Amino acid sequence: MLAALGWATSLGAAHAAEPLPTTEIAPGVFVYQAPYQLLAPSNDGAIANVGFIVGKEGVAVVDTGNTRQSGERLLAAVRARTDLPIRYVVNTHMHPDHAMGDVAFKETGAKFVAHAKFARALQARAQAYVDGAKRALGDAYQGKVEDIVLPDVTVADKATLDLGGRTLELEAMKTAHTDNDLTVRDVETDTWFLGDLLFMGHLPSIDGSFEGWVKLMTGLRDRTAARVVPGHGPASAKWPDALAPQQRYFDRLRADVDALVEKGAPLREASEKAGLSEREAWALFDEFNARNAIEAYREAEWR
Ligand SMILES: [Zn+2]
Repeated sequence: MLAALGWATSLGAAHAAEPLPTTEIAPGVFVYQAPYQLLAPSNDGAIANVGFIVGKEGVAVVDTGNTRQSGERLLAAVRARTDLPIRYVVNTHMHPDHAMGDVAFKETGAKFVAHAKFARALQARAQAYVDGAKRALGDAYQGKVEDIVLPDVTVADKATLDLGGRTLELEAMKTAHTDNDLTVRDVETDTWFLGDLLFMGHLPSIDGSFEGWVKLMTGLRDRTAARVVPGHGPASAKWPDALAPQQRYFDRLRADVDALVEKGAPLREASEKAGLSEREAWALFDEFNARNAIEAYREAEWR
């Protein structure tokens, strides 16, 4: 009877989130591989790769998805693997598909960790992100600007986090995908979470600096890692091979934009033509290429 009551109680919590399916890509490192989709009711906002690392004494979460719901589903995935406390929630940058699920972790006691420029960038966009989610999800979306979580710990250069016998190395990058990109390396398995500094399959989106990103890619390519986790793409990939398609896209964009600037073509033409030969190679090309081309064109005018 008591056992039956116990069941009834847990069934009563039928709203409990369904855990995001995760893969253990290296011992103690779990990643949810997101589909190549924009925010929609069908995906709960779980549209960016997110993951967590389990140490001997605690857990660190890396990114949380676009909504409270995606965050709750990630939290459920952590709880399905371990009862250890969640010590940290690290955001790789302030984009909503990576950071707006943080709200689900507010009650866990975790410290929120991000790049030193994260808070300013997120606050500037907060209302736009909430409005955008409302448009995409309709009345079912209950998010508010007040739900947005700002970091407790910021990283201006490098920092380490201790999970008990397991160290994470954090590195704040110069402006590239955004002005607040932060990478996370699990030293034990040499697994490097690159956030949106690496896109695979899903077209990259430039919200920082085209030139900055090109330059950073060159530096990152020369480093080693046993494996990397892209912000969008497979759960795990080989480094630096994983970077090749993104590098090729940026090279194409630069060559096209330079030719258009050279012949005095207007911005509009660049937005329509630059990078077009890459169209078949990427998901969500039409959603993001024009903006990338415009950014590359603007920066090319200054070269
Ligand atoms: Zn992003």
